[in-house]
Amino acid sequence: MTPLQLQGIGMTSQRTRDRLITRLKEKGIKNQQVLEVMANTPRHLFIDEALSHKAYEDTALPIGYGQTISQPYTVAKMTEIILAAGELDNVLEIGTGCGYQTLVLSQLVRRVYSVERIEPLQKKAKERMQLLRVNNVRFQHSDGNWGWPDEGPFDAILSCAAPETIPMDLVSQLKIGGRLLMPVGPDGKQMLHLLIREEDGVTKKIIEPVNFVPMLSGTQK
Ligand code: SAH
Repeated sequence: MTPLQLQGIGMTSQRTRDRLITRLKEKGIKNQQVLEVMANTPRHLFIDEALSHKAYEDTALPIGYGQTISQPYTVAKMTEIILAAGELDNVLEIGTGCGYQTLVLSQLVRRVYSVERIEPLQKKAKERMQLLRVNNVRFQHSDGNWGWPDEGPFDAILSCAAPETIPMDLVSQLKIGGRLLMPVGPDGKQMLHLLIREEDGVTKKIIEPVNFVPMLSGTQK
């Protein structure tokens, strides 16, 4: 990858990226670290070249296989919520997709574990991480409904796909004080849920309405 490709020009330039950051601030994102990381993360490298002029608009975009790259506001909001717990050692991401959220997380937490059920999407995400020389992310092609028990417990689990009900296996893979952040509910009626595992149970908070792809079962080659 050349420095110019990384940096971007025209509709992918730093100036265009900074406009997105202004927009995120207007929408209520306050965490300075998150804003800085997002200003420096090349989102245009995560989507098809034909769409790269839209890379720094605050919208979800198609990435193939019927999936989408998340809206930047959503990525910022979710990252801000899990970081509110303090320094994070390990985070599990469910739904690697193109790897954009993975790359944002990798710059803010010590280790990221990311699972994806569609193999070719994850393969591409992995290649992007190699090109960008990111080395604190581990990937697994698997069904995120089961989490990643061998690597848990986690400080946080973040899902980019919405189940109809929260898979309880995931709660058991949280550390005490750990946070599970995920969209829950059927299409058009999803709410972002935050669960915090306590010594003697779980506290639950509903954050805001969201719009994610559904969490499906099983894997796809
Ligand atoms: N994190 C991405 C968003 C990806 S969209 C970004 O940064 O933009 C959500 C992803 O979740 C899709 O790629 C979809 O295939 C995946 N997904 C859906 N159900 C899943 C499951 N049960 N296990 C793992 N991944 C799943």
